[in-house]
Amino acid sequence: MTRQEIETWLREEDEEILSELWERADRVRSETVGEEVHLRGLIEFSNHCERNCTYCGIRKGNRRLSRYRMSTEEILECAQLARRLGYGTVVLQSGQDEQFPAEWLAEVIREIKGATGLAVTLSVGERSERELRLWREAGADRYLLRFETSDLTLYRRIHPPLRGRSPDRIAQLRLMRELGFEIGSGVMIGIPGQSYSSLAADISLFGELDLDMIGVGPYIPHPDTPLSRVRSPLPPGEQVPAVDVMTYKVIALSRLVCPEANIPATTALATVNPREGRALGLSRGANVIMPNITPACYRRLYDIYPGKAGPAETPEECHARLLALLQSLGRRPGVGPGSRRRSRQPHSYPVG
Ligand code: SAH
Repeated sequence: MTRQEIETWLREEDEEILSELWERADRVRSETVGEEVHLRGLIEFSNHCERNCTYCGIRKGNRRLSRYRMSTEEILECAQLARRLGYGTVVLQSGQDEQFPAEWLAEVIREIKGATGLAVTLSVGERSERELRLWREAGADRYLLRFETSDLTLYRRIHPPLRGRSPDRIAQLRLMRELGFEIGSGVMIGIPGQSYSSLAADISLFGELDLDMIGVGPYIPHPDTPLSRVRSPLPPGEQVPAVDVMTYKVIALSRLVCPEANIPATTALATVNPREGRALGLSRGANVIMPNITPACYRRLYDIYPGKAGPAETPEECHARLLALLQSLGRRPGVGPGSRRRSRQPHSYPVG
């Protein structure tokens, strides 16, 4: 699919024409990854962060937030819970917390693998090759790092670099693939200044990177961040709106450019459309859900955007609700780690 074709789909508003896109994405999803929906237990283990991303509520500059970091024991308890609920993977996510030694996280990974055998996905920001190697050797299987936007001017505006470090997330993704991680990336949809053509370029880039996992969701302004006060410099017809239907389009197009990828119906999508965001995501290309299993006392502190915490329910209640949802869609919970299924071996990518 060319960038121009992708952009045309992104601009499409006719319900009948769009239903063709939903059907195509759903068919490709069914043919390549099947009816299983993989459940990944999300553990938000720290909200400490060294960075000042202008969109994110846990940025370093947000002094109104109390900070926490879970202990090894607390993280292990969550992993055990994930296993009891039948999940095949835990996702360890945090701010870019650089106050713990990389060896500590390596030990957490080893203990989770030893005690539960679950697949481990990391989502801990921009890290050095030494750290990535250490975590890979400890047994981490996958890594999520959204490049957020492929428009470099916009990227620099929302994502101030750390002194003396390359903020190049694409280079890190390529390195992680060489180290043997499954790699996941994605973007926010509707950040001020994001045009249709740049979002189309993002989706093309998913295909070029041959991503194993693709996470996308609407941008949700957080009142304690600078980006929440920024108006789009683009004319209305060029600015991508941060709405759920745009997210379904990006999910569906991602499925078409990366047919084998694992694609979640994300929490941000469920936040902007609590009633049917997840169901529609799963019907239009997605095949993963990431139930949040962070202990209730920490959950509201992992405040990357407002409204994220969702209904006050226990992990068991949430699980029962998701199983009912899957059943209503004629889908079933995935069994096993739910790695990417490959029809061929990974190839190497042109550098640059
Ligand atoms: N520190 C890690 C994890 C960040 S949270 C990292 O930087 O990779 C995971 C994702 O949440 C981010 O990649 C971003 O795409 C998304 N996110 C952050 N703030 C958001 C907001 N205000 N609205 C919607 N999504 C947001």
